[in-house]
Formats: sequence, C-alpha cells, structure tokens
Amino acid sequence: MLEPLVRQHLPRLQYLYDRAPAPARHLLTSARGWVLTRLRYSRETFAILNDLRGHESWTAGQIADHQLRALRQTLRQAVDSVPFYGNYPLAKIRDLKDLSRLPVIDRETILDSQDRFLSRNVRASRRIRAGTTGTTGASLRVAYSENLARHNWAFLLRQWAWATVEPRQPRITLQGPRVVPANRGEPPYWTYNVPERQVLMSIFHLSERTAPSYLDFLCRHRGEVLEGFPSVLGILADFAIEAGIRVPMRVVFTSGEPLYPRVRAKIEAVFQAHTFDSYGMTEYCGLIQECERGQMHLAPEYGFLEIVDERGNPTKPGEEGHFVWTGFLNDAMPLIRYRIGDRGRWQEGGPCPCGRAFPLVVPTITRESDILHCPDGRLFSARALNQLLKQSTTFRCCQFIHDRPNRVAIRAVARGASQNGHTADDLMQIRSDLQDLLGKSMQVIAELAIAPIVRRGGKIPLIIEEVVRP
Ligand SMILES: [Zn+2]
Repeated sequence: MLEPLVRQHLPRLQYLYDRAPAPARHLLTSARGWVLTRLRYSRETFAILNDLRGHESWTAGQIADHQLRALRQTLRQAVDSVPFYGNYPLAKIRDLKDLSRLPVIDRETILDSQDRFLSRNVRASRRIRAGTTGTTGASLRVAYSENLARHNWAFLLRQWAWATVEPRQPRITLQGPRVVPANRGEPPYWTYNVPERQVLMSIFHLSERTAPSYLDFLCRHRGEVLEGFPSVLGILADFAIEAGIRVPMRVVFTSGEPLYPRVRAKIEAVFQAHTFDSYGMTEYCGLIQECERGQMHLAPEYGFLEIVDERGNPTKPGEEGHFVWTGFLNDAMPLIRYRIGDRGRWQEGGPCPCGRAFPLVVPTITRESDILHCPDGRLFSARALNQLLKQSTTFRCCQFIHDRPNRVAIRAVARGASQNGHTADDLMQIRSDLQDLLGKSMQVIAELAIAPIVRRGGKIPLIIEEVVRP
C-alpha cells in the first residue's frame, strides 16, 4: 500500500529532497529503497521467481499453451472490469491467431480515453501511477499495481540469474531519478540506497569537469554490478577512454533505450564485462531480455507479442514490422493488442544455444538522438532530457533543439485543438524544469510547432544539435 502513496506525492517529495543536505538525501533514498525492497524482495516475489526459473525448460508447445491460457484469462478479466473493453466480443479464442479479430489500439487511443482503461478490480488507492514517454516524446499516464511491481522485479531477477548475479548484489545505477540537486557543483553526485546495497548516480551531472569524480568512484567500486541507460553508460565509457583507464565491473545491465552496437562495444571494452540488454516499457505489457548467449528472448509469461506489417498482417521471420503487445500481468490497466510505436522482427534460424525455447526477437533501433553539449562541458543524453516530459500529456511530440551555443529551444507539437490552454501550461512547466536543470548559462525558450523535425529515414530525434562544436 505504501508505493501508490509515495508515487502520488513524488513531485512534492522531490522538492523537499532537492533542498535537503547530502546525508539527509542518503537517508531519504534509503527510506525510498526500503519501500521498494518490501516489494522487490518479498516472499511472493521469490515464489514468482522460482516459478519463472522452472519455465526455462518449457518446450515451444508448453509456451504456446501457457500463452493461450493467459490470453483467454486477460481478455475475460478486461471485458469484465475495464470500461474500454466492455463491449469487446468475448469471442472464443481457440488458438493464438484468433486474437487478430480484436481491434488494435495505440497510444492515441489510450490518450483519448485514459481513465476508461483502468480496471475496477484495482482500487484507486492501490493504483500506482507513472508517466511514460514514447518514441516521439509524447507522454502517457499509466497505472499498475504492487502485484505487477513484484512480478516485474521477479523477471528482472531471472535475467540477473542468467548473468549469475544473486539478488541484492551491490550495484551502481545510472537511471532516471533526480538523485542530486541540479545546481550541485561538487561531489557526491550519487546517493546510497542502503537496504538494496545500491548506489544511485546522477545522470544530470555528467561533464568533463565531473568525469574524474565519477570515474574515481567507479574505480573504488570495481567488480560490482553496473546498470543504466545505454547512452549514459556510453558517455561514462567515453570519459574513461579519454582518461586512458579501464574500470572492470562484474556485469553490465542496460535498459530504457536502444543499445547501439558501437555503444555496446565501447561499454564492454571499458567495463570489461558482458552486457545484458533488455527491452521493456512503463506500460508493462511486454518484455524482451538478453540471455548469456547474447540473444534477445521474449518473456512468454509477461505478454503476447504480434509483429505486423502496415496492413496489420503478421510478418514472416526476419521481416521488420510493428510490435503489438497484449500484456498478461498489468491487472490495473490491461492493454490488449497495443501498438506501442516500436518495431522489430522475429529472429530467423534455430533455437538459442542457451537451450531456452523462448522466442527470439530483435527490436529495431528506431531513434538515434544527439547528445546535448552545454558550453560549460556538461552532457545530457536523450534519456536524461526525456525524464522532463513524463508528466505532460498534451503533446503529440516534443524535441529539444540546441540552436545557439547558449540556447535550447523546446519545440512541441500539440495533440489537437481540444487541449486548449493545457498545452501552453505543460510547455511552460517543461521550460521552467529545463531552465532549472541547465542553469543560468543556458537560455531556454519554448515554442509550439505544427509538425516535428524529421530526419532521413523518418526518424524524429529528441535532441537536435545544430551548434558546431570546435
Ligand atoms: Zn538464449
């Protein structure tokens, strides 16, 4: 029951947190960690993990049986308890192909009727709400339950097991939370979550000036588990290469954005460890995780994946198409045939040498973004700036244009005339948040646009660097 409450008050807690001295921040991080630990390392979570490990010996037939059962149950529960699906035909799902008779929904469908996707089976006080930004920077408010959080963590622990990492191994994390106030100019750029033996490093303070502090800290924690957004670990790897050092870590986990081959190579060279990537989403309707043999496996108990072409027909192995997910686990906000906006393909060829029959999927890298270089040497990855957009739901798309050495323009495209003044409010809020983050040396302006800036191949980068660096 605690997690929904914490999530609800997160913006206000962040305000207090930013104004607390460093020792108090460590204490607050640990308190937050304690709440999460109760979910992540509960008896139920380990029971789920135990089941999941047993599924690794499933045959293709057993996987298909499980998915069919889970699909039927998901559909039945959704029709019974979720207003949006109330008039879905409870058609007989005789085999997995029957699902294709139901409509495909997308982000716009959900944005147009967000509350109608909430299940009556999960009381409002038990819903955990979170914002997610998709590939275009348009945000969506989603809901999930503590039950989902436990399951989700069990899947993460299963991948840790593939990497021979035990639960609660000491780890260093570089992900989204703002763990250090934006204006901080000296170490520590990290905070401690003692219950989980975790160090959370800020992804908003990376610069040539702070690089020695980051690298020195990592060197003192060599041999531990390192996890983070690929672009952020890539920036750290660049710092290490420039300093001519290697920082051997036990293993690296990446998630949250695509891992480009050259970034992976750089990360593995500097941290001298195998990298395990994963593809998931805050909508919690599907999961793809890399095994110890370097292949990306669909987690068949998490959700059902269809890959379809432009006309909605299933693609052949090796052919790229759109991901359409039906999640089995999110009881608070079930999504049925959700076209998330990402693409990928079924991998051709035989089974994975790791021995698991879980289907192999290759997510496509759809969005290569620039990195924002501030004149004072600070670097912001797309994933770092993406964090600012999570609370705004009125944009179809939002981009950051670094158009002059000391200026960033936020360029947003509204979702439609019906949003009226809300778009302007959202835009002003993001402008103010970004100004706080970048400080006085950068000017931040904001504008509404008719259409996003699209690069060759249809890509819509979050950050566009127009300033030529010396
Ligand atoms: Zn494998």
